[in-house]
Amino acid sequence: MSRLVVGECIVDLHPEGAESGGHGDAGTYARRPGGAPANVAVGLARLGEAPALWTRLGRDGFGDFLAATLREEGIPDTYVERDPDAPTGLAVVALDADGDRSFSLYLDGTASTRLESGRIDDDALAAVDWLHVGGVELAHEPSRSAVFDLLERTPDGVTVSFDPNARPSLWREFDYADTLARALPNVGVLVASAEDLDPAGYGGTAETVASAVVADGPHTALITRGAAGAYARSTADAPWGAGHAEHPGFDADVVDTTGAGDAFTAGAIEALDGGSSLAEALRFGNAVGARATTAQGAMAALPTREQVEAFLDDE
Ligand code: ADP
Repeated sequence: MSRLVVGECIVDLHPEGAESGGHGDAGTYARRPGGAPANVAVGLARLGEAPALWTRLGRDGFGDFLAATLREEGIPDTYVERDPDAPTGLAVVALDADGDRSFSLYLDGTASTRLESGRIDDDALAAVDWLHVGGVELAHEPSRSAVFDLLERTPDGVTVSFDPNARPSLWREFDYADTLARALPNVGVLVASAEDLDPAGYGGTAETVASAVVADGPHTALITRGAAGAYARSTADAPWGAGHAEHPGFDADVVDTTGAGDAFTAGAIEALDGGSSLAEALRFGNAVGARATTAQGAMAALPTREQVEAFLDDE
């Protein structure tokens, strides 16, 4: 079993010591590892087997910090590139009056946007059985071309999952809806919230959005619903067969929901790739997602397989 995750690994700066406040108000920031695809990769590593991660870090202190984090999680450095000419990407978190988080992404010109086509050759790609790709890399060149090149070269036997991770502020040079439409024919499993899909024209409930998605290329749509869990639909082309399922999610002592979606994705990949049904994958993904909200930072509370199984046994 060989898995490959592709996309940004960046530093998240979280304001500390304040219940709310924008960037002008926060005094102290904590530096935490993040980036949606990197969160998925670390999630998978904690659940069992570390995947390869194709990402690009600056040759700077933040890059050293992230490289050390990935190493500690057991992620091989084969495709962890270091860029001498560009800084590591950053996301700065702001808290609104309710404590809800929003991100300002500082990615223009950073190492994370500078993946180049051809880094992963056809032989390496043929050895992969599950490829997970994040959408943020599609908002900038040259990473956009590099990721499309990879998606378009991926052999049919590889299951490709994709999380578009809509961030409206990123889509200045390229159009988000057009980009998603180009990606979907090469995607098997789309993972997103309905809010992520709305700007691409998929309006409505999780059920209607999932049906529309599986009509546009993917054989499976996994639609996350925050504290309300997730909904899924698949067609007969899916390795797990045609069906639909929903799971209401689990109660959690929520401290920070940053990266909950990525945790869910790691759990769902682990389950589906291990032969689980759609319903079992939603239950497992929701358990991983709920656990991940219980500490500050996207990666801190990502659970091990034993922790997820103990959590599910208690439910
Ligand atoms: P994103 O983090 O991408 O915005 P969601 O908010 O839909 O995505 O959350 C993804 C998953 O994380 C959910 O499907 C659920 O499993 C879990 N989750 C998120 N928020 C909570 C919560 N408050 N309590 C329990 N589980 C949660």
